Amino acid sequence: MSIEENISELKRRLPEDINLIAVSKTKSADMIKEAYNTGIRDFGENKVQELTDKIDKLPDDINWHFIGHLQTNKVKYIVGKVSLIHSLDSVKLLKEIEKQYKKENLTADVLLEINIGKEESKSGIFAEDLDDIISECEMCEHVKVRGLMAIIPKGDENSCRNYFRQMKSIWDTLNNKSYNNVSMEYLSMGMTTDYELAIEEGSNMIRIGTGIFGLR
Ligand SMILES: *Cc1c(COP(=O)(O)O)cnc(C)c1O
Repeated sequence: MSIEENISELKRRLPEDINLIAVSKTKSADMIKEAYNTGIRDFGENKVQELTDKIDKLPDDINWHFIGHLQTNKVKYIVGKVSLIHSLDSVKLLKEIEKQYKKENLTADVLLEINIGKEESKSGIFAEDLDDIISECEMCEHVKVRGLMAIIPKGDENSCRNYFRQMKSIWDTLNNKSYNNVSMEYLSMGMTTDYELAIEEGSNMIRIGTGIFGLR
């Protein structure tokens, strides 16, 4: 199927209140333009260099989402260029984002990335370490936490549901508390193979790559 067909099929299946991020990593500007022409405005990239190259080539009204691991020395290149950083995964990175956005007097919208499966190969904060980073976020002036993100371990339906549920439960718990600079608007979870389960378990933001642009 074409990009256009993939998107219309996907949209037909999605409840209205779900934010769809088209993950365009490794895909060309021309392919992104095809998706853009169907009305998609939210695109996800996981590498800083690739992202900034694409920003230069594509329309200004795209909302870029940074979804990959962000190295502290690269934060300066994305200041003011992305609408949401999904991958805040350490206090060190938080401090660098605060510092670089302060220089431009801008505010970064971020999600806290949780390593819900405690996988060594993945970045993200362990659930039990959330309090520490949230206290640091509360003291920031140029960072606003807008929710949570997770990449769950591969597994069968039961396993996926279980991780999505754990995420939803953490999100609900934080949502019922009141913090400075921290609100729970977005729960970013679900990719091509598991987005339907993710939505059933409470996701409101899904990140779809293969299901729109084909295999990488
Ligand atoms: C690549 C990627 C996706 C999209 O994965 P698909 O399986 O192609 O839909 C979503 N989230 C993150 C963080 C990614 O790196």
